[in-house]
Amino acid sequence: MNEPPKDVAGALQEVRARMDRSAHDADRDPAAVQLVCVSKGKQASDILPALEAGERIFGENRVQESQKKWPELRERFPDLELHLIGPLQTNKVREALALFDVIETLDRPKLAEALAKEIQSGGRSPELFIEVNTGREPQKAGILSEEADGFIAFCRDQLGLKVTGLMCIPPADEQASPHFALLSLIAKRNGLAKLSMGMSADYELGIQLGATHVRVGSAIFGARHYPDPTPSA
Ligand SMILES: *Cc1c(COP(=O)(O)O)cnc(C)c1O
Repeated sequence: MNEPPKDVAGALQEVRARMDRSAHDADRDPAAVQLVCVSKGKQASDILPALEAGERIFGENRVQESQKKWPELRERFPDLELHLIGPLQTNKVREALALFDVIETLDRPKLAEALAKEIQSGGRSPELFIEVNTGREPQKAGILSEEADGFIAFCRDQLGLKVTGLMCIPPADEQASPHFALLSLIAKRNGLAKLSMGMSADYELGIQLGATHVRVGSAIFGARHYPDPTPSA
């Protein structure tokens, strides 16, 4: 099951080049699109080549896994920006605030309240993106699109949370473009500047449709056997 080690630096060059090309094609400033290197399921030794290549923005989907990997890496690379891109349980809010600079998965009122409470009592105050379930998938996290305006207002106006953007994960078996377009529309009418959309398979499309953040994992670090171990073949 061991795969040959991925040439992370080479893969990053390729992803960076494609991002630049997509931005140029869409008449956008390449500097306006941030690459979030998704390092979930990867060990520090796999992540190091990306840090050494100059990458500083990383995405993880689990609080506990991140607690094990990142404090040590942050000592060596203090200018890191760590994004939480996986679901956050309310009982992990304190740990998440201590660790992450951006939480991309604010997806329900209970979590918003827990974040507000913890931030008020002196926790760090990360940037927050609201996750929108644009595909209305019952198994997926995120606020429904028709509830997004109300939820954004609740978070910003009632709780005073620092909401700066939106994030979505389109259904795997559908064209991503209508989902990206919908996310962009909701952001615009709510005055939110940041849009996290696009993964390894569709980050170029995300950039064409206005992404300010693309979350790219396997195209940089190779395949993951994660979160579940590969079933025995
Ligand atoms: C794993 C993950 C990614 C990265 O997926 P790749 O297809 O490996 O690029 C992006 N966003 C979220 C929310 C993820 O969980």
